[in-house]
Amino acid sequence: MISAASLCLDGSLNADLHSHSTVSDGTLAPAEVASRAKRNGVALWALTDHDEVSGIEAAAVAAHEQGLPFIAGAEISVSFAQETIHVVGLGLDEHNHELLKGLDKVRSGRLERAREMGESLAKVGIEGAFEGALAYVGNPNLISRTHFARFLVEKGICRDTGDVFRKYLVEGKPGYVTHQWSTLAECISWIHSAGGIAVMAHPGRYKRLTAQEENALFDEFCALGGRGVEVVTGSHTPADAVKYNAVAKERGLFASRGSDFHDPQESRADLGALPMLPAGLDPVWKHLEPRIRY
Ligand code: AMP
Ligand code: MN
Ligand code: MN
Ligand code: MN
Repeated sequence: MISAASLCLDGSLNADLHSHSTVSDGTLAPAEVASRAKRNGVALWALTDHDEVSGIEAAAVAAHEQGLPFIAGAEISVSFAQETIHVVGLGLDEHNHELLKGLDKVRSGRLERAREMGESLAKVGIEGAFEGALAYVGNPNLISRTHFARFLVEKGICRDTGDVFRKYLVEGKPGYVTHQWSTLAECISWIHSAGGIAVMAHPGRYKRLTAQEENALFDEFCALGGRGVEVVTGSHTPADAVKYNAVAKERGLFASRGSDFHDPQESRADLGALPMLPAGLDPVWKHLEPRIRY
């Protein structure tokens, strides 16, 4: 059995602290993600569903059965400047009232947004997308663009979900609907209420931010008590990893590593399969020790 004493929390640990299940837009149930993580050699795993913690209990039970050390997480949607930002909360108490209330609020507009997405797609001749996307939803509280993407692939309109996000569902393309998520301040305060550490998710993806805006984002994130940044993630190119390695050092942020796994076929990186964190960084998991569940 793996215990606190036998887990070495240094940079060489195969930690995967970003993954999704059917509770948000992944295709495997929380227990199936746990098994896959274990099989792939993950030594410390976090489930981080979008705006949701309702998969945490099943994930924790399955991880315990597999002998896989586990951290409770969530990936929270934030609006900043003209961009949607994701912040991963790690080491959360999934029963915390402030967190649950906050996540409920962030999720609340998703259904209406999805109806509007369906209407927008109908205008370009794609009928039934809302109902079609709903058929892919595993949690009625969490309908996302990914569910629409799977419907568009099913219909043969796009060859894969990557193709969908080039032609549809993004700004300026059919199916895109602007949406107001949480503020950075709200999101970080919920994470802190629940005893967690706030980590900037895949900063390399925020292409709509100017360099100045990105700086302002990190300034505000740090001022609000955000402590970590994803350096190695399935959502980064190797060049992104180099850039945010430097940002982590300059700003004294802890570094995180996570596949952003959603599905065995769709995802760019499988659980536990990424390069290790580069040397010289301070791994976020070192600071999560009291929150690890064995
Ligand atoms: P939503 O929270 O409904 O806006 O959906 C966001 C999700 O869409 C992300 O978490 C990804 O899973 C997916 N997504 C966004 N952009 C892309 C992309 N370019 N390629 C693949 N999936 C994407
Ligand atoms: Mn997603
Ligand atoms: Mn994300
Ligand atoms: Mn994610």
